[in-house]
Amino acid sequence: MCVDALIARMSHAREPLALGMLLQTSNTVRRPRMNQTSEHNWAGNYRYTAPIVHPSNVEQVQLLVAGATGVRALGSRHSFNAIADSAGTLVALDGLDDNIVIDSAALTVAVSAGTTYGTLAVELQRRGFALHNLASLPHISVAGAIATGTHGSGDRNGSLATAVSALEIVTGSGELLRVDRDSTPDFAGMVVALGALGIVTRVTLDIEPSFAVQQFVYENLPWSAVLQNFDAVTGSAYSVSLFTNWHGDTVDQAWVKSRDGDFSAGAAFFGGSAATAGRHPLPGISAINCTEQLGVAGAWSERLAHFRLALTPSNGDELQSEYHVPREHAVAAIEAMRALSLRITPLVLVSEIRSIAADDLWLSSTYGRAGVALHFTWKPEQAAVEALLPVIEAALAPFLVRPHWGKLFQADAAALAPVYPRFDDFRALADRFDPTGKFRNAFLERTVFGR
Ligand SMILES: Cc1cc2nc3c(=O)[nH]c(=O)nc-3n(C[C@H](O)[C@H](O)[C@H](O)COP(=O)(O)OP(=O)(O)OC[C@H]3O[C@@H](n4cnc5c(N)ncnc54)[C@H](O)[C@@H]3O)c2cc1C
Repeated sequence: MCVDALIARMSHAREPLALGMLLQTSNTVRRPRMNQTSEHNWAGNYRYTAPIVHPSNVEQVQLLVAGATGVRALGSRHSFNAIADSAGTLVALDGLDDNIVIDSAALTVAVSAGTTYGTLAVELQRRGFALHNLASLPHISVAGAIATGTHGSGDRNGSLATAVSALEIVTGSGELLRVDRDSTPDFAGMVVALGALGIVTRVTLDIEPSFAVQQFVYENLPWSAVLQNFDAVTGSAYSVSLFTNWHGDTVDQAWVKSRDGDFSAGAAFFGGSAATAGRHPLPGISAINCTEQLGVAGAWSERLAHFRLALTPSNGDELQSEYHVPREHAVAAIEAMRALSLRITPLVLVSEIRSIAADDLWLSSTYGRAGVALHFTWKPEQAAVEALLPVIEAALAPFLVRPHWGKLFQADAAALAPVYPRFDDFRALADRFDPTGKFRNAFLERTVFGR
């Protein structure tokens, strides 16, 4: 009996020994923990159709993959669409040891793929090291974040995936393959890979000596000043984010993260005034969940993300979309969104505008071009949001827009292929890693493999 059939029997007939019997083919392999009921993503807007297993070591992952006809990795479940789901089984790596190994001479850290950035950041900081950047939240898994091209902000900061120097991947045959940036051909296609090449079990990342960050918030910046000086605004510090609901003549907030004092804070910033107390990006919500502001210096690990690890990030009851445009089109793309404010503002809780450096990762939204990301935190009204997305995507199409893979979007493979120069190369790479298509799912058929 194949793994899928065994797991199906376990889910429905509650026979927890079945998979254990299968995995006894290796002395070191014990039965992975498995959930019996279907589960949903962080936002609660997507319920996974596949059962979720929690192996406790890499050998279990290899056996699961080798015996499955359909299987995919599940990270910390922070994506808003069906990207992670599988017609077979979902494999969560949260049962593996974090096994964080720092090489202080090579300036790298190796870590289990299911480890969260929050856990990793605490350990790196404790040992005197840093990552170059973080997303808005530290709760996400390393492998899940890099698989979708997750990013923070900063003109000179690439996405989190740009720090990856090596991966260990369980491929379709169950083989454990090590690939690295220096010696593996096509490595640039393997990092932002949407889970389509296999299950990443271990990741090696570039690190650097720890650094301090100060965070300043400014309010009510006139749009005219921001758009006339857009390059100066985003280039004014290590990481800059703008928050808006697209309504009116001002940007609600600018979050300026200064590294080692690279920003001279004053009372005003492009016509906005310095906040006098901590701020949450969403109006009316306490800043208690946010990383410390008001220029109080602290470790990178406690300032680069917007939200604290121990508390709920963002609103909690929300949906998200995000669209990346080439840097040179940023102002025009922003104007296009402002022109849609009558449609967008009633549905949006807040939008965030960030800048990201170019990279060479084939499916990255910043492949071959520096980018600006227009992010939307939506009210949890999925039907209304999905009705609006085609309108937004049509407005951004002239700017060669690329959507965030882990958030809600409407474009299909036919629309996306022309804006990713290495799209066909990625499809060929996936065929090589996974000739029987066991790592594919309906989402990938729609957005990548469908022609
Ligand atoms: C509140 C909130 C804030 C966010 N902020 C940001 C932000 O600041 N910047 C940003 O860019 N995004 C942001 N996101 C989106 C988020 O970073 C992405 O959706 C990311 O993919 C989530 O990682 P995850 O571990 O939850 O992955 P999941 O959602 O569980 O999975 C995502 C994809 O990764 C694959 N995957 C997971 N683990 C592995 C593995 N071991 N091997 C191979 N493939 C794997 C899955 O198969 C799937 O295709 C935010 C999301 C939320 C909910």
